[in-house]
Amino acid sequence: AKRDPGTSYRFYDQQLHISAGYQLRLEADLRNALRGQELELYYQPRIDLATEEVRGVECLIRWNHPERGLVRPDEFIPAAERSGLIVPIGYWVIEQACERLKQAADLGHPGLVFAVNLSFRQFHDRKMTETIFRIIYNANVDTSLLELELTESAMMHDLDYARRCLRELNQLGVSFALDDFGTGFSSLSNLQHLPISLLKIDKSFVQDLGHTADAEHIIRAIISLAHSLQISVVAEGVETEGQLEFLRQQHCDEIQGYYFARPMPWDDLVKFLQNQSQA
Ligand code: C2E
Ligand code: CA
Ligand code: CA
Ligand code: CA
Repeated sequence: AKRDPGTSYRFYDQQLHISAGYQLRLEADLRNALRGQELELYYQPRIDLATEEVRGVECLIRWNHPERGLVRPDEFIPAAERSGLIVPIGYWVIEQACERLKQAADLGHPGLVFAVNLSFRQFHDRKMTETIFRIIYNANVDTSLLELELTESAMMHDLDYARRCLRELNQLGVSFALDDFGTGFSSLSNLQHLPISLLKIDKSFVQDLGHTADAEHIIRAIISLAHSLQISVVAEGVETEGQLEFLRQQHCDEIQGYYFARPMPWDDLVKFLQNQSQA
């Protein structure tokens, strides 16, 4: 084909318009989703390697779109962040998690930890601490079972702000996990000034095990440094027996991944927990 810069520019421009239109549709749909109860939480168990018991679950949002079917968060969280919709969605997630936390206790799983993801925008919402306080107060839950997961970038963006918010919520009993650890630029020395009780090793390192020697060294270093700061470690994305064995040898505290269980709807989780306690 002839190279015509004019045409290719128009083509590119058209692409941009399509994606801007798509973006707006997505946002409008998402607004309806929040109102119309199309959002749902899935729950992925986290296993304690010492006791082999389910320590807790990570709550992961799903969108049951009337036409597109099940939409995964990577497809709509970025749009929700940009539009600010992530703020009300995020509070809905915490409310829902609190309801499930109480249900879990009623069903005979009183110590189960519920972990919820907080996005950058949510964490920097001016009313964050007071809104979370109101939600957990209204739900009347055991706050020590509620864990909030934040990424390095959300936390390190403004360390003073992070320290203040984490301390306030920590005083109410809520605990914090540093998510996707190893992918950002924070140094572990930052951690000692924050009330973080858990560190989640990003799944990219776990999945590099057996492929690159670096992954082993990095994971070993993260676990030993975290433990020296009295911080527990969860490895995410564990899919194979080999990965599990390596993590066990390194005294990783908990694992999460398809090897044990995929994220699942609430009813399936209840069955899963029932089977675990019978085993
Ligand atoms: P994340 O917080 O790092 O969550 C872990 C992701 O890894 C989940 O993807 C989970 O399904 C996936 N995963 C778990 N085990 C394995 C495994 O063994 N192999 C592989 N390949 N993947 C595994 P998911 O559910 O698609 O969520 C993607 C991201 O969306 C999350 O990453 C989180 O950043 C965000 N997200 C999910 N729910 C929420 C929410 O309620 N609020 C906010 N702000 N973000 C959320
Ligand atoms: Ca997470
Ligand atoms: Ca993660
Ligand atoms: Ca991630």
